[in-house]
Amino acid sequence: MSIDALPPLREVIAKHGLSAKKQLGQNFLLDLNLTAKIARQAGDLSSYDILEVGPGPGGLTRALLAEGARKVVAVERDARCLPVLEEISESAPGRLHVIEGDALAVDLRPHLTAPYKVVANLPYNVGTELLLRWLTPASWPPDWQSLTLMFQREVAERIVAQPGSKAYGRLSILAQWRCDVRIALHLPPQAFTPPPKVSSAVVQVARLDVPRYEADARILSDVVARAFNQRRKMLRASLKGLLPEIEEALILAGIKPTQRAEEIGLEQFCALARIVADQRKS
Ligand code: SAM
Repeated sequence: MSIDALPPLREVIAKHGLSAKKQLGQNFLLDLNLTAKIARQAGDLSSYDILEVGPGPGGLTRALLAEGARKVVAVERDARCLPVLEEISESAPGRLHVIEGDALAVDLRPHLTAPYKVVANLPYNVGTELLLRWLTPASWPPDWQSLTLMFQREVAERIVAQPGSKAYGRLSILAQWRCDVRIALHLPPQAFTPPPKVSSAVVQVARLDVPRYEADARILSDVVARAFNQRRKMLRASLKGLLPEIEEALILAGIKPTQRAEEIGLEQFCALARIVADQRKS
C-alpha cells in the first residue's frame, strides 16, 4: 500500500484506540493538507535525514515521507502508536525508522546522518527543553541543518522577539545569535484533536554556519540568564555578580548601566560577553 492509500487518521485512531493522553502532550494533527504544509516549510527533504519527535499516529510522518524525505527517524514515547507507525513504515519501505523512547533521554545521533533536519509537532511539555538543547550543542555548527517546530504561540513569539518587547529574553537571544528564525505558520486550537487551550505556531530555525557576533557560548548564556532572571532591574544590579567592575564592562560594551535587559540587542550582549571573557582571563 502506498502512503497516499493509507486510511484516514480518524479511522486509524479509532481502530487502535489512541485516545489522547494529556500527560504526553497529545494534540494530534489529523488534516493531511495541514501536515503537508508543515512538512514543506522545511524545504528540501530528499537530501536529508529527518528527525521527528513524537510522531503519534503519524500525520506529520506521512507528510514527510510523501514530500520525499530520504529517511525519517521518529522517536515516540507512547508504545500504543508503534503498530500504526509500523503500517506507515510498510508503505515506505526502508525510509521510516521508529525508535520507542523518550526524546530527552535517547541518543539519536547514531541513527542520523548529519546534517539532518528536525521537523516536529512537539509535545509542549518538552518542547522548550529540546529547543534549548538543539541551540546549545558542544560545538558550532551543530549536526542539524534546520528545525521546523510547533510551539505554543507564546513560546514561538519568544523565539523571534526583538528588543523592547515583553517576549524578548534568553530564548530570543540564544536562537537568534546563531540562526535565522521566523514564524512560518499560525494554527488555531481547532487544528488539533483534541484542541489545546492555546494557539500554536510553527517556527522555522535555520542555522548559520558561524555566529552572527563573536562570543563564548557559555559566557553569553550566563550573562543573558542573569540579565533576564531579574529583567525589571537595571543591569548594573542584575549583573553585579558577573564581574567586580561590572559598570565599566557595561559602558565598554556600549550599554548604560541603568538600562534593563529587555532594551539590549544581541550585538551588545555579545560585546559584553567578550569583555567578560577578556577580564576573566586577565
Ligand atoms: N506528531 C503527531 C501529530 O502531529 O499529530 C503527534 C503530536 S503530539 C503534540 C506529541 C507527541 O509526542 C505524542 O505522540 C506523544 O506521545 C509524544 N511524546 C510526548 N513526550 C515525548 C517524549 N519525551 N519523547 C518522545 N515522544 C514524546
